[in-house]
Amino acid sequence: MGPPGSGKGTQGERLQEELRLPYYATGDILRAAVRDETELGRSAKEYMDRGDLVPDEVIVGAIGERIDSSEAADGFILDGFPRTVPQAEALDEKLTELGRDLTAVLLIDASDEEVVRRLGGRRTCVENGHVFHVEFNPPAKEGVCDVDGSELIVRDDDEPEVIRHRLETYHEKTEPLIEFYDGRSLLRRIDGAAAPDAVAEELRRMLATLKLEADEAI
Ligand SMILES: [Zn+2]
Repeated sequence: MGPPGSGKGTQGERLQEELRLPYYATGDILRAAVRDETELGRSAKEYMDRGDLVPDEVIVGAIGERIDSSEAADGFILDGFPRTVPQAEALDEKLTELGRDLTAVLLIDASDEEVVRRLGGRRTCVENGHVFHVEFNPPAKEGVCDVDGSELIVRDDDEPEVIRHRLETYHEKTEPLIEFYDGRSLLRRIDGAAAPDAVAEELRRMLATLKLEADEAI
């Protein structure tokens, strides 16, 4: 968990490589559906273009199928889901049904100010989605992708007014989840303002401890 732009996507991908577990990013699943113009994609796009959350039943259907597949037998990493308390309850129900449990909920925290700075500077390659940042990771030539020479654009959901709307949505709908998971002793907080390597190290340490605890419990 974390606000948009907290770096949770980057960290999730690192974890995926280290733990060799399937990684389910709601954003990717939804963007793929939008690109392929599936029925789910068409309905999701209307919400995403406005910076709104995609309705629970659309997302829960897609994620539930993945968790239930054999590739997720040893575990899985979720990114971008659940985002609301009702989604968390739906996930709980699904996991109970499948005889599964969440090991931990990792919160990568970042201030609104930091979020605006990070997302507002993001530039995405039109052709292949390579991501740059005007401040932290600028391309060699402004507006051009280093990898394939495609044009770099500001993605719809990185536009300033959409960022502000996403933050409002996060505070209103997602923050209650922090309490929800804290109450179940699953929540672990990480300071997202630290450098990505430091955040990754903190996550590694945290998961190693959790694994020890889990092994002792057996
Ligand atoms: Zn590119």
